Amino acid sequence: MNRVRTIGLLTSGGDAPGMNAAIRGVVRCAVNNGIKVLGFEKGYNGLLDNEYREMDKRSVSDIVDRGGTILFTARSKEFFDKEGRAKAIEVLKKNSVDALVVLGGDGTFRGAKELYDQCNGEINVIGIPATIDLDIACTEYTIGFDTAINTAMEGVDRIRDTSTSHERCSIVEVMGRNAGYIAAYTGISTGAEDIIIPENNEYGDINKIITRVRIANKKGKKHYIIINAEGIGHSYEMANMIETITGIETRATILGHLQRGGSPTCKDRVYASIMGCKAVEVLIEGKKNRLIVYRNGEFTDVDINVGLAEKKPFPQYFIRTAVELESK
Ligand code: ATP
Repeated sequence: MNRVRTIGLLTSGGDAPGMNAAIRGVVRCAVNNGIKVLGFEKGYNGLLDNEYREMDKRSVSDIVDRGGTILFTARSKEFFDKEGRAKAIEVLKKNSVDALVVLGGDGTFRGAKELYDQCNGEINVIGIPATIDLDIACTEYTIGFDTAINTAMEGVDRIRDTSTSHERCSIVEVMGRNAGYIAAYTGISTGAEDIIIPENNEYGDINKIITRVRIANKKGKKHYIIINAEGIGHSYEMANMIETITGIETRATILGHLQRGGSPTCKDRVYASIMGCKAVEVLIEGKKNRLIVYRNGEFTDVDINVGLAEKKPFPQYFIRTAVELESK
């Protein structure tokens, strides 16, 4: 087994609260085991531009509570091409990097896998799932999701107060790309009347929603909160339609990027720290081309190819629970 001497570390794709805690975990665990860490900036662009700084234990002091990522993040077009990745491999070799640890979503992992294949495994890669969307099939936890849902929940709680005072219908659009996890958690935790997610088109049928808004209004309900997932979108158009057809004042709010920022929750700090350390342990064990995942209550690792090929059906209990919780 070849001993790992130098790790390259980067954050890529959308930022997620807790990335800093994971960076700290990787750096502290690596340095404590005599491994050098080079932090590349702005995702894969940092590799292409040879833009890095050596990270010692002090370099990650006072970041566990900070949102965003101290390594900055980006999406790199050049890295999609073989020539771009060849440049990255050259930079990694020039800096004697034996293994690259990447934090990001499945796009980031696809990039890491391509790099690993292209250099015939000469440079090892390890992925740590960090995305607020929870849309990575092979893991039940992704860094940033817990903070994002708590932020969205607090936002909706506030909107509910003003919505009730004005006896309005409110549509709140939350993030999640094509996945409805943020919407499902936000909707159930705030007692929303409707939750519209890409995984369940039927429940999100606008005509049925309009009927339910009307019935609720007739029963004297003081507000009507609809959580709409980013993957469905069109919140302003929906609000217009509801107001025009029912005559009930309706407002749309898109929570947007505020869900991505802010100090990470306790869970995100702790889980991200564990995943950061785990990534280094897996490297020391000599495992190659792995993703750090959380499954069945345990932190473990899977082969990147296997992990990327997994499909995760949306848990039906969210939909059943949302329906059961309707006040009818
Ligand atoms: P998020 O879920 O927050 O969007 P992500 O990691 O899925 O994160 P992407 O934009 O899909 O975000 O991917 C990040 C970067 O990874 C891309 O900009 C690109 O540089 C690289 N990448 C993605 N897919 C590939 C691929 N198939 N081949 C090579 N590189 C890729």
